[in-house]
Amino acid sequence: MGVDDVLQAVMPTVMVPKFLPFEELREPGSRVLMASNGVWLEVRRKWLYARMQVGLQLPLAVPYGTIEPVRRFEFGTIPNMLLHQFIEEAKRRLPNECAAWLIWNSVTREWRMAMLLETSVSINHVDVLLPVLAENEHLVVDVHSHGVSHAFFSATDNKDDRGECKIACVVGELHKTPDIKGRLCLNGFFVPL
Ligand SMILES: [Zn+2]
Repeated sequence: MGVDDVLQAVMPTVMVPKFLPFEELREPGSRVLMASNGVWLEVRRKWLYARMQVGLQLPLAVPYGTIEPVRRFEFGTIPNMLLHQFIEEAKRRLPNECAAWLIWNSVTREWRMAMLLETSVSINHVDVLLPVLAENEHLVVDVHSHGVSHAFFSATDNKDDRGECKIACVVGELHKTPDIKGRLCLNGFFVPL
């Protein structure tokens, strides 16, 4: 196996069949799908199956089938209780910001929240110690607070979320009714939730 084969196995390109049913990626990974209705990104994680269009239809007739967007969360729904727990913790830490991971176990199907420990903080940076995941645990939601300012994804957030596959969440206006924004991050593409 050459270097290119190894590299390409990370994200193979697949032609969507025109007559046979399309078979979803079963193991965690990513693929590029060439369909007659565009170029698509397919992502499989233990907690997620997603397909989204990332490129226009090719400007020539291609013998491929069509495909539809899909977004399926294998965990069901995110427990409200955990989000409330994070909001309470974020209020306690005002005026500082804070962050946490909501972690899902794909075998027990249980959730836990892990606050991110700050190792150094200044006006324009925060270094955090990332939680250690046990076997079968997955980072699903990466949530952070914006203190009393409103909930939005900043340029730094966009940079941080670029290469990740997770749900990013930001909570703001913690001094009144908290405002929450969420998005699914897929290999650099952001899908508002
Ligand atoms: Zn932010």
